[in-house]
Amino acid sequence: MSKDYDVIILGSGPSGFSCAMQTAKFDKKALIVESNEEYLGGAWINAGTVPSKALRETATNIYKYNAQFGDADEKKPYEQFRMRDVLKYKDRVLASENSEIKDNLIKNEVDTALGFGRIIDPHTVEIKSEDGTVKTCTADYILVSTGARSTQPEEFHVDHSRVLDNRSILDIHYIPKRLVIVGTNVQAIEFATIFSALGTRVTILNGQDDYLVFLDREVKNEFAGILEDFRINIFNRTRVLQVGENPLRNCTEVKFEEKDTGKMHVVETEQVLYFGERIPNSANIGLEDVGIETDEKGFVNVDQNYRTNVPSIFAAGDVIGYPGLASASFSQGRIASCNMFEASSLEIESVIPYGIYSIPEIASIGLTEAEARQQDHDVTIGRAYYRNLTKANIAKNQRGMFKLVFDTKTLRLLGVHIVGEGACDLIHIGQAVIRFQGSVRYFLDTVHNYPTYSEAYRIAAFNGINRVYKSGVKYKNILENR
Ligand SMILES: Cc1cc2nc3c(=O)[nH]c(=O)nc-3n(C[C@H](O)[C@H](O)[C@H](O)COP(=O)(O)OP(=O)(O)OC[C@H]3O[C@@H](n4cnc5c(N)ncnc54)[C@H](O)[C@@H]3O)c2cc1C
Repeated sequence: MSKDYDVIILGSGPSGFSCAMQTAKFDKKALIVESNEEYLGGAWINAGTVPSKALRETATNIYKYNAQFGDADEKKPYEQFRMRDVLKYKDRVLASENSEIKDNLIKNEVDTALGFGRIIDPHTVEIKSEDGTVKTCTADYILVSTGARSTQPEEFHVDHSRVLDNRSILDIHYIPKRLVIVGTNVQAIEFATIFSALGTRVTILNGQDDYLVFLDREVKNEFAGILEDFRINIFNRTRVLQVGENPLRNCTEVKFEEKDTGKMHVVETEQVLYFGERIPNSANIGLEDVGIETDEKGFVNVDQNYRTNVPSIFAAGDVIGYPGLASASFSQGRIASCNMFEASSLEIESVIPYGIYSIPEIASIGLTEAEARQQDHDVTIGRAYYRNLTKANIAKNQRGMFKLVFDTKTLRLLGVHIVGEGACDLIHIGQAVIRFQGSVRYFLDTVHNYPTYSEAYRIAAFNGINRVYKSGVKYKNILENR
């Protein structure tokens, strides 16, 4: 019996959207079911990637303005700028991104249905809209791309007034003088630097031993120094006990204890911003009814083609877990579509870049120095510092570093780690060299525009090559690859 669609996609985030786009290119018919009746685009457009980056853009501009002209005017940004204007800019960006998504879906003849989707058999989805109407649609394939959400704290309540989350912080109507952030995931660190750049005094309460532990140690230390310059206070190994109002001092109080000693602290603040653990939106969508396997946290299990154990059902994006990025979700959704319609069995390159949009940015690809040593590589490191770059001096972005990890004998590039302005873009130069199994010699043999931040690749390569030379290899032999 013929079906209504070739694929029904649950969720319009990056994985669902890219699956729909790729499906349309195969001249197949896709339906996107989206439970958010107001917006398409998921966390990507509405609550995560784009709005936080739009906010960051304004904060960075204000920060740069103050870095260049701050001497002339000693006012804090919150005395000069209004949150209303900062948010207006973000809203304009969101409106344009939202209409871009709609235009793309219309142009590619992708149908959309607003309502909560639930799988009732391997080829059928039930769609329940907010007004209670229910309809069912059938398809050859189903993609589960329902994303993830944050866990809620046990000790206090996210009321979206005193205690905010990544969504409600985007509607705050003033720049707080003080902000306590609970949690230290990537987004927590991004928001900490965004608000610091706006002049807010930020305190971070971290329940773990450390933060951003996956970073190369040296890059992490450089970033820790930047957080100190921002006067961001981080308390590791803490437990928040209570968040409440202090009416006498007209502020919010956060009580927390040090896990090791039990020592109590109280911080006064205007707002609290909470980041929990990411958990999948995989409950009540019919997975158990059709026997789809998940892990113990509910993340959907898939093979390398993004197929679940039920052959007609695929899953992609945050609902399958790691890495939980919009960047990876775009590729996963597209590849799921390719595998449904047998274009070819494509796989994502296993070495993927990571970007943290703090101020300044952090990005990395490939092996850290510690990982390369663990894997028994004969490792040499090349470093460059932003303070030595003409471009960084002109732009007053002197904090940060580049670190190249490469093999001493072959000079093959194994990893790149950057903290500093433009890191999330700059990393792709290193990515291309790693992808094509190139060596740091590439950076010596190519001409880079000047003044640029990418010049740091050349400086770091020379720095590393010098170290190889000092270890006893003749310079001529290094340059001539002998
Ligand atoms: C604050 C923040 C900042 C971020 N910044 C970045 C960044 O800079 N770079 C980056 O790469 N990633 C970033 N991310 C991560 C990124 O947003 C996610 O990885 C990405 O959006 C996940 O995409 P997805 O396709 O899984 O779906 P999502 O974007 O999570 O969307 C899922 C959609 O499914 C819908 N849905 C759920 N259940 C149903 C159902 N039963 N029926 C119908 N629809 C349903 C939801 O309403 C939602 O619209 C950030 C995340 C956050 C929270």
